[in-house]
Amino acid sequence: MAFGREALRGMGITIRRFYSTYRHGLNLQPSAAGDLPAPAEARNTKVPAGMPTRVGGLATVQYPEQKLPVPERFRYIPFLVYDEEPDHERADFDGVRCTACGICAKVCPPQCIWIVQGKGEDGKARPVSSEFYIDASICMSCGFCAEYCPFDAIKMDHDYEFSSYERHESWVFDLQELLHPVAYHAALHPSDYAREAAEERAKAEARAAKEAAKAAKAAAAAGGEAG
Ligand code: SF4
Ligand code: SF4
Repeated sequence: MAFGREALRGMGITIRRFYSTYRHGLNLQPSAAGDLPAPAEARNTKVPAGMPTRVGGLATVQYPEQKLPVPERFRYIPFLVYDEEPDHERADFDGVRCTACGICAKVCPPQCIWIVQGKGEDGKARPVSSEFYIDASICMSCGFCAEYCPFDAIKMDHDYEFSSYERHESWVFDLQELLHPVAYHAALHPSDYAREAAEERAKAEARAAKEAAKAAKAAAAAGGEAG
């Protein structure tokens, strides 16, 4: 008899918890998936950029018609970045940032990156890849490649809809499939992109200042010789 009473009490606690969780979730839920992504004013400004702002609540999303937004730091299979209008040394390589340095392939834990360095007509190696493959069936989306790339040439994608009926060829992405314009990267990773742009500007300013100092020194030397 005592056992039955305790069992009923336990079930009562479970039911109470279930309903309180449900009510709590309803309060947190941003009305319906139609409101997604959460409007900027509803976002918690104390949350660091790139972090999810709405992590609680009951969410019934009519996938695939509706999709929950992913945070900036979401990672799913890398892609390669190219600049559409390169005004720097990468212009010779159609703006493709990857220099085929091979660092990403070295740090990749499951070794799913394969790169072939490009060569010029003279047979000499060029700082660009002629082939670049990622086996997405092996990639564990750890993001190491993007972390270690010294040229901001490889970034993690947000596109997680890769399912297919085939488990081999369609999961090996080649250079053409991996390449995306820098605008795509900027849209997915606005804070990362802003940081890169600021670094690039600082470098350009430092270069310009160095060149100006060099020119001033040469002019001074020329003036001294003339005197
Ligand atoms: S680390 Fe960056 S630049 Fe080097 S091969 Fe990988 S993607 Fe290319
Ligand atoms: S995300 Fe990780 S596993 Fe995938 S290619 Fe990059 S380093 Fe390799």
